[in-house]
Amino acid sequence: MTAPLIDRIRRHVSMNGPLPLAEYMHWCLADKTHGYYQTKSVFGREGDFVTAPEVSQMFGELIGIWLIRTWDTLGRPNRFNLVEIGPGNGTLMRDILRAAKVDKDFSEAAHPVLIETSERLIDTQRDKLAEHENINWLKSLDDLDKHPALIIGNEFLDALPPRQYVKYENEWFERGVGIDEQNSLIWVTLPTRKLDTKLLPSGHEHEPDGAVFEISTIRESFVERMASHISTNTGAALLIDYGHIKSGFGDTFQAIAKHEFADPLACPGEADLTSHVDFEPLSIIATQTGCTAMPVISQGEFLLKLGLLERAGALGASKSTDEQRRITEEAERLALPHEMGDLFKVFAFSSRDALWPFTEFPH
Ligand code: SAH
Repeated sequence: MTAPLIDRIRRHVSMNGPLPLAEYMHWCLADKTHGYYQTKSVFGREGDFVTAPEVSQMFGELIGIWLIRTWDTLGRPNRFNLVEIGPGNGTLMRDILRAAKVDKDFSEAAHPVLIETSERLIDTQRDKLAEHENINWLKSLDDLDKHPALIIGNEFLDALPPRQYVKYENEWFERGVGIDEQNSLIWVTLPTRKLDTKLLPSGHEHEPDGAVFEISTIRESFVERMASHISTNTGAALLIDYGHIKSGFGDTFQAIAKHEFADPLACPGEADLTSHVDFEPLSIIATQTGCTAMPVISQGEFLLKLGLLERAGALGASKSTDEQRRITEEAERLALPHEMGDLFKVFAFSSRDALWPFTEFPH
């Protein structure tokens, strides 16, 4: 079945010319009627992809322990916003709040805030977190009040659109979506939209024609707003996503449907569209906005330092062999290098100089 979104995109392109990739992606994900996050049951084994909180309760529990420790480093403020941005099904926040019960002072000081744009997902989150009465939903980071904030986001940044530029004869042209004579969506370059080469990483002169560079000013502006809120009100942020520590070249724009890679132009609104996160500019922006950026580390390293193996052992004690095997497999999925352990990175910044288990970032 053809999604009606494709007809609207075709019409828009015939009237106005090609859509830059970032606008195409935004339309596919966020359209109020046919956008992917509005219409689909996306997470978990029945959905299109499984995120770390859906793989195992241990992920959220360990992040809960990280939050308590970070709150302690911040001087144990007696009221703070515990913010999750892009909470999906609400599983991560549910596991965090359960784990945080070990520290009564933390639990009393925490005011959970979920920032979500999808009405459908807000309903799912309300159901999942029904036992917690003190949760607030906000549409934007700008609506946060002026208390210290601990902000987390798992697989949030990758959902924010990048722009792509393609090299041709020493110039870099923005990539967009057009239509061909058969009315199919196709990739095109936008000859009037060129990237200032000052924005490219070093070495761009040596890249061949056809090389791709991605930049996401929307991600940068989200990190800037988080960092500005944190440097003014104190706090810390923890952002986990797939991506790279250093800027580079390459096309990472991808579509996933039913756990398989799909053609991003084939069915707008039907597949999840993401791209890998380039953490280098985000780290620089957090620092420029008055926070201390911690070195970006892999999810595997982060979870092991937080005590994943110990947690798996404790959870498996007194369980059946089958249960123990399941718990081991979950821990492996989260942390082994060829599973989620290496590709996923953990980026933290704070109004404090150092945070466990990171060390200070030498900018
Ligand atoms: N964190 C969840 C879900 C990740 S998917 C998990 O790990 O399972 C991305 C989430 O970000 C979805 O909940 C989506 O609706 C939300 N989202 C996308 N753009 C957003 C925006 N601009 N502001 C707030 N939430 C957004």
